[in-house]
Amino acid sequence: MGHHQGAPMPATLRHAFRAHAHPARSVPCPHEPCHARPHQACIVRVNGRLLKQLHPARIAAWARTTACCPTCAVEPGIPCHKEGIPLAGVHARRIQEAKVTLA
Ligand SMILES: [Zn+2]
Ligand SMILES: [Zn+2]
Repeated sequence: MGHHQGAPMPATLRHAFRAHAHPARSVPCPHEPCHARPHQACIVRVNGRLLKQLHPARIAAWARTTACCPTCAVEPGIPCHKEGIPLAGVHARRIQEAKVTLA
């Protein structure tokens, strides 16, 4: 007659978060000083806090490499521009376009 210790461990894996992962997570974050690696969350470097949302610069970088811009008619990899002057970010419609491209 022995005593058996240890109950079966319930496998409670949480899949729910995956659905919320932004496709821009697949690219590194160019935001200073974040520089999150691909598939890592953006981070506040001063306190190490993980952000729920991505830095706008990361989403812009992702849209820039993924999609053409319907607003200023540039191809993937080319920065958005306004009257010939490159923009730091991208046009909002390019982000929409990138989401459609992936779908
Ligand atoms: Zn970031
Ligand atoms: Zn544009």
